[in-house]
Amino acid sequence: MNNFKLLGGIKIALLFIFMVFAANFYAQNKFGIIIHGGAGTINKENMSPEKEEAYKSKLGEALLTGYQVLENGGSSLDAVEAAIKIMEDSPLFNAGRGAVFTAEGTIELDVSIMDGKTLSAGAAAGLKHVKNPILLARKIMENSPHVMLMGEGAEKFAEEQNLEIVDQEYFFTKERWDALQRVKENEKKSKEKHGTVGAVALDKNGNIAAGTSTGGMTNKQWGRVGDSPIIGAGTYADNNTCGVSGTGHGEYFIRLGIAKDVSALMEYKNYNLQQAAEEVINKLTRLGGTGGIIALDKNGNIAMPFNTSGMYRAYYISGSEPVIKIYKE
Ligand code: ASP
Repeated sequence: MNNFKLLGGIKIALLFIFMVFAANFYAQNKFGIIIHGGAGTINKENMSPEKEEAYKSKLGEALLTGYQVLENGGSSLDAVEAAIKIMEDSPLFNAGRGAVFTAEGTIELDVSIMDGKTLSAGAAAGLKHVKNPILLARKIMENSPHVMLMGEGAEKFAEEQNLEIVDQEYFFTKERWDALQRVKENEKKSKEKHGTVGAVALDKNGNIAAGTSTGGMTNKQWGRVGDSPIIGAGTYADNNTCGVSGTGHGEYFIRLGIAKDVSALMEYKNYNLQQAAEEVINKLTRLGGTGGIIALDKNGNIAMPFNTSGMYRAYYISGSEPVIKIYKE
C-alpha cells in the first residue's frame, strides 16, 4: 500500500471515530421531561374550549418549570418534584387540591418518587393532610430509612420534616364532589375520568427520575391503595433503562407490575422504549384494564401509550419543541 492510500485510510478512520464520539456525546447530553395529568374518558365532545385551554396551560406550566430546572443544570429529581407540585396545586388534576373523594367523602392521597441513579425511592399512602405529597415522598426517600409510609405515621413524619399540613377542606373541589355523587348513584355506568399526575425526567448528567401523585379512584373504600405509591407498579426509574409513571385502573397496574415491566423488557429482552411501553399497555388491555403510561429512556426517547380515549400528556426534550396533547391522535 502506498503512503498516500494509508494516509487516506487513517483520515477516514479518524473521521469515523469522531462521528461516533460526537453522536454519543450528543445522545448523552440530551435532557428533558415528560408529564401526564391522567388517562381516562377524555373526549373533545365533552370538553369546552375554555377547559381544554385551562388544562393545556397548566400542563405547559408544569412542563416548562420542570424543563427549566434541567436546563439550568438541576437534577431530574428536582424537575420531577417541581412539575408534579404544580399539578398538585391545581384543582384540575386528581392529586393534591382537586383529588377525588373516597366513598366516605374524604380525601386520601397516594404518592411515590424514584431515583434512577441509586434506585432509591420514597412513597406514601393514605395521606389526608399533606399539602404536597410529592415533597413528602422525596423526604421519605432522602431523610428516612424506609421506602414507604402510610396514614398517620407518614403525616407525623411530614410534620417533622416541616412540610405544610392542611385541613381536608383545602383539597375539596365541587367537581370531584359531584363526581362522587354520580359514581355512587350509578357506579357501573359511570365513566369518570381519572386525573392522576406524573413526571419522568432525564437530566444533563444522564440521571433519570420518576414520580406519581394521586387521590386514587373516586368512591374507593376500606383504605384502598392504588398503584401510584407502589414502586414497580405506578412508578419506576433506572438509569440503565428508563423512567416510567402510570395512570389508570390501579388494581391492574399493581397486578401487572407495569412500571417495572417496561424497564425489565428493555433490560432483559433488549426492547426499545416504544416496544416495551406498548407491550405492557397491550398486556393491560388483554387483562381488561384501562390506563396509560409515560416513559423516557436514557437517550431521551419518549413513549406515552394509553388505551383510553385520552390522556393529558406533554413532553419537552432538548433539541426539539415542547408538545402538549390530550386526545388520541
Ligand atoms: N392509578 C390511580 C389509582 O388507581 C388512578 C389514576 O391513575 O387515575 O389509584
